Amino acid sequence: MPFSFLRPELDQLQAYTTHADSDHLPSEPLDILDTNEFPADLPPDLKQKFVDHLWNFIPANRYPDGSHVRLKTAITHYVNSQITTPGQPITPDQVSLGCGSDELIRSILLATCGPGQGKILVAEPTFSMYGILARGLGIEVISIGRNPDHFDMDLAAADQALDNQAIQVIFVVHPNSPTGNALTGAEQAWLRTIPNSVLVVIDEAYFEFSGLTLAGELADHPNWLILRTFSKAWRLAAFRVGYGLGHPEVILALEKLRLPYNLTAPSLAAAQLVLSEQESLLGAVPGLLAQRDQMFQALQAIPQLRVCPSDGNFIYFQAQEQRTTQQLAQTLRQAGSLVRFTCDGIRLTIGTAAENERVLRRIQAWAKTR
Ligand SMILES: *Cc1c(COP(=O)(O)O)cnc(C)c1O
Repeated sequence: MPFSFLRPELDQLQAYTTHADSDHLPSEPLDILDTNEFPADLPPDLKQKFVDHLWNFIPANRYPDGSHVRLKTAITHYVNSQITTPGQPITPDQVSLGCGSDELIRSILLATCGPGQGKILVAEPTFSMYGILARGLGIEVISIGRNPDHFDMDLAAADQALDNQAIQVIFVVHPNSPTGNALTGAEQAWLRTIPNSVLVVIDEAYFEFSGLTLAGELADHPNWLILRTFSKAWRLAAFRVGYGLGHPEVILALEKLRLPYNLTAPSLAAAQLVLSEQESLLGAVPGLLAQRDQMFQALQAIPQLRVCPSDGNFIYFQAQEQRTTQQLAQTLRQAGSLVRFTCDGIRLTIGTAAENERVLRRIQAWAKTR
């Protein structure tokens, strides 16, 4: 029905779904290797502790803490403990919490741009959510390319865009998704030259895997905002908690735009709990990285594939042709390994040892038929 009260541009947009092109019935066993989550649930004793906490201390009839002050403080302790360069420690007024980093990305867009007013710059291939959320708000997305060999950004094109377009925000991912490459020295140097009239968003969703962060430089760059999430290494994707780190004035703008109770009490409690169990939970990361390195070598040994080194918990690879790559993704999905076909490549999340073995066997079987 043509509802004239709906914005006509919405016809061009699609609702976001994951596992969208799965051909499977929900009853079939699937290896979920397409959304970059950590492959293991929280340990049972920790989950029980969480349930007990919920039962004993979270009154269902009361609104959650809308100030997030306890969690913000816990996050500053965590972030500061991970900063290796000497800098100014992050304080709670430099932290904003979102219902996933997705909410923060939307708040950033609301705070900086409007329909026909201000544009964002991204280097593709990259995380799709910046473009999706911007277009939903009627904000123009300027997209520059990357070097096809190593996927570093075309900085000349980026400079040209900054000179000629009304860019308000640059979004970069460190390391990038789907390609897995961290920001190079040249890219970091370039970010340091961006004037304060442009907001630089550095998405560190995979920090716990890469160990790489620019948080130590926040004090030197008031126009930088770092995004992190509890959805990946912290195993809390179901709870939707992300955070932004930046200058107090920028953070205040995000705080003004978020929903008053954007995080549920269980979500706040879950984030608090995993931070208190940092050692045991993040202690599992090196094992996962070893699996990733093993997978990288095994994929690299397949001559039909081009495989990119990764600083995240996923690997991006391509067959010779775009169509072949797409067919491989389809073959894997039908066999029960959900992988993500995106930007002409396959992004494979590192799963459990058994899941990794299964998907590798399926890829090797495919290669034999080529
Ligand atoms: C997974 C991911 C996020 C996390 O999003 P949430 O909304 O916090 O789950 C953010 N940025 C990138 C680049 C990601 O890959």
